[in-house]
Amino acid sequence: MTHELLAAAQSMQEWLTQQRRTLHMMPELSLNEFKTSEHCAHELTKLGFKVSKPWGEGLIADIDGPNAKGRIALRADMDALPIQELNDIPYRSKHDGIAHMCGHDTHMAVLLGTGKLLAGMRDKLKRNVRLLFQPSEELPPGGAPGMIARGALEGVDEVYGLHNLPTLEVGQIATCSGPMTAAADIFEIKLTGRGGHASRPQDSIDPIPACCELVGMLQTLVSRRVAPFEQAVLSVTKVKAGTTHNIIPDDAELMGTVRTYAEPVRARIISEMGRMVKAVADAHELKGELNYIRGYDSIVNHESGANTVCKAASEIVGQANVDPAYERQTWGEDFAYYLQKKPGAFFLLGSGNKAKGIVNPVHSARFNVDETCLPIGVAVMAKLAL
Ligand SMILES: [Zn+2]
Ligand SMILES: [Zn+2]
Repeated sequence: MTHELLAAAQSMQEWLTQQRRTLHMMPELSLNEFKTSEHCAHELTKLGFKVSKPWGEGLIADIDGPNAKGRIALRADMDALPIQELNDIPYRSKHDGIAHMCGHDTHMAVLLGTGKLLAGMRDKLKRNVRLLFQPSEELPPGGAPGMIARGALEGVDEVYGLHNLPTLEVGQIATCSGPMTAAADIFEIKLTGRGGHASRPQDSIDPIPACCELVGMLQTLVSRRVAPFEQAVLSVTKVKAGTTHNIIPDDAELMGTVRTYAEPVRARIISEMGRMVKAVADAHELKGELNYIRGYDSIVNHESGANTVCKAASEIVGQANVDPAYERQTWGEDFAYYLQKKPGAFFLLGSGNKAKGIVNPVHSARFNVDETCLPIGVAVMAKLAL
């Protein structure tokens, strides 16, 4: 039997699809979500929400119930990516080189639909509801810290958010307790020596052998410095030095990424990487510089929040379609910062459909979602608030 909330959300399918397609056609980059914000604020005001704009183009939309106590916050992100959409669809992005290829249009449509559904049942609200439309998820340091600093979580007891996932079939929901996404960091290393003629290395300070040693040494950070029951990834992704066969270059550069799930592991890698760069540079009389750029922290779901999501989702899509211990993701998400302040959880909404050929991953030029995921997202979000 279809849950009554799902049935109510499914009766809004056409409206939800239209909302999503409207937003899909007018994608805007991080910190430029002007029209997007205007559209959402307009829809939310029509639905009876009290809307304010705390930070950038972000929105806080509140609705109170006559018998409600406390407040739950539900969040959607708003920004698109600098990608040319390659889908041949009637609602294709109208902005060249910009497209909603992470599906944040879907997240906004789900949240608008949740607002519409809950606004129609105010007297049943056990808790007051806050919808957060957050800009700039794709651009570190992200929009979440700004929204939080400007009061997004004031008076809030719990906070939830979702991300669509096309590798998960529509109708499925997944989450996990504890770390869910990675802290995604970037490192840049520069070794500076003194260039010269390749036939007279004794007159130069060659950065290349040192650079090669360092690439090898960095591999030992994960294998020798991280406990086997912890997880970390370190990849050197760029090596740059020299121009031709007879010149020793002045300097060599390395770049790469570190992904971790726990702050002590991350802190140890940062400190030991600094020590290695200095040691190798000193050993070769080079100048070593490390620029370590922290990305988003890891999303750490609260156990109570993950359980609440699983319970709500099981009622909507059936327990067999809910994965409570889904594998950790290696991407980063600034939803992490909400969960550092309030209990709650982040969850994944299946948006793929192999039979319809909807399989392309987020951030690809042919990414799309099965729009029947919209009412499912709405029903689960609404259930969390009731
Ligand atoms: Zn993304
Ligand atoms: Zn995203």
